[in-house]
Amino acid sequence: MNVSCSFGGDSVVQAKLSSVPIVYSPKYKISVFGMEKFHPFDIAKYDKIYKGLKNDGYVTKHTVIDPAEVTAEEMLLVHTKEYLKSLKKTKNVAHYLEAPQLRVIPNSMLDNMLVSRFRKASGGTIEAARCALKSPKKMAFNLGGGFHHAKPSSGEGFCIIADVPIAIRVLQKENLIKRALVIDTDIHQGNGTIVCLQDDPTTYTFSMHEGGIYPMPKESGDEDVELAGGVTDTEYLKTLQGKLDGMFAKSKPDIVFHVAGCDALDGDPLASGKMTHEGIAMRDAMILAACKKHGVPYVMTLSGGYSKDAWEAQYKSIRSLLEAEVE
Ligand SMILES: [Zn+2]
Repeated sequence: MNVSCSFGGDSVVQAKLSSVPIVYSPKYKISVFGMEKFHPFDIAKYDKIYKGLKNDGYVTKHTVIDPAEVTAEEMLLVHTKEYLKSLKKTKNVAHYLEAPQLRVIPNSMLDNMLVSRFRKASGGTIEAARCALKSPKKMAFNLGGGFHHAKPSSGEGFCIIADVPIAIRVLQKENLIKRALVIDTDIHQGNGTIVCLQDDPTTYTFSMHEGGIYPMPKESGDEDVELAGGVTDTEYLKTLQGKLDGMFAKSKPDIVFHVAGCDALDGDPLASGKMTHEGIAMRDAMILAACKKHGVPYVMTLSGGYSKDAWEAQYKSIRSLLEAEVE
């Protein structure tokens, strides 16, 4: 990428740093009369990560991409018509997002306040995938998305649009890829992704998650690794490392979607993992290293993470991955 910039003495470093595409829009942030504060999802997470990376010089105006919203036609590659119609009613969306307090939003304001935000972040996953295929570094980040509980005809677990399966179908339709591997390291099973891609020999789902917590029962993906509660960095990283080469060999992917998630962190209110910020960074570096080893483009989507410092762990991890790209 031919990047020009004007950062004085740091210009050479800045130009090299900025060769990794970052997909983000301020519209990823959701605000519903301040009620979002009562929901476990830290809706400002995306914004905090973006601002942190920008302040550090890891995102420049040359590399940040504001994506188009996913279109109805693209969503129909995965979701049913009836389900998309159900997203026009507040009571349905509040139910899918497990946030009954949202029922006060008039139907007329629902799209602008909520649903369009998910469409934007889902469009971001498609855009990041295109960037990963095209960019010299063969990697890209969507600072949102990873809505891995959304299914073809239902939403749940704070997820209403199945962004990763949709991105896979769009790329396949455009003949940009044939096969895709989804590596889901959010601590909850990516049950929605699995249902969307089930019985499809062109896709391979790997999910490493805690047993005994949502979702129950679990779906059956191509490869599921169930962890006991209280997983530590050492156990987690050893298990993941032991699986990576095998999943690449079985799936032979043209692209990898990493549904990152930071809810394996110690202190997360929705799981019991004991991982540290360093462990999360090592996890992400391990997956990117495997993609590089196998010559496969890498896309990160953010997914869950509900502790107060989840954004910080993900920000530090992405920052260290970008730092490693400085030549
Ligand atoms: Zn999760």
